[in-house]
Amino acid sequence: MDKNNQDQIQAVINKLQKGNQDFVTTEKNNGDVSQMVRIKNVQAGQKPDAVVVTCSDSRVPPEHIFSAGIGELFVIRTAGNVIGDFELGSIEYAVGHLGTSLVLVMGHNHCGAVASAMEGHGHGYIKAILEEIQPAIAGEENVGKCENLNIDNSIKRILQSETINRLIREGTVKVLGAKYNLESGTVEFFG
Ligand SMILES: [Zn+2]
Repeated sequence: MDKNNQDQIQAVINKLQKGNQDFVTTEKNNGDVSQMVRIKNVQAGQKPDAVVVTCSDSRVPPEHIFSAGIGELFVIRTAGNVIGDFELGSIEYAVGHLGTSLVLVMGHNHCGAVASAMEGHGHGYIKAILEEIQPAIAGEENVGKCENLNIDNSIKRILQSETINRLIREGTVKVLGAKYNLESGTVEFFG
């Protein structure tokens, strides 16, 4: 792997970790949402630091969590951070066309989608979400471990993309798991 690429990816991880620390410490989002940054991101085009795949849960707002402003995060949210074709296409766009180098799959504790998948109840289109999660957590009864297995499952889905796989092999993209704690506000990065 090219050392410059590795350094660049590590710099993004460091920035997210610093942003999360600031969020926890200041209890504010200090991200730049000024008109100047809005105009800059239109004129120069967007160049987000990271793709964040996370749960739609209203208690998990990625820009707040990472003290990020406009143009910094390319966010994909579904209940239970499950990945299907539309989500995968969105990630391919970010890494393939916008040059984003980090894909962070961020689950969280107290995830209702994972809890429902463990209970096995779901009607309508919710059923599709639970059926995506259930095989990944089969046989596991600890809710925290199920949440982690569900993060792993979304990473596995992302790795089904040939485009993303090629970029990982070339060393320009990294896919990383993480878990957000609803009470403390902290993000634990895996690996
Ligand atoms: Zn959730």
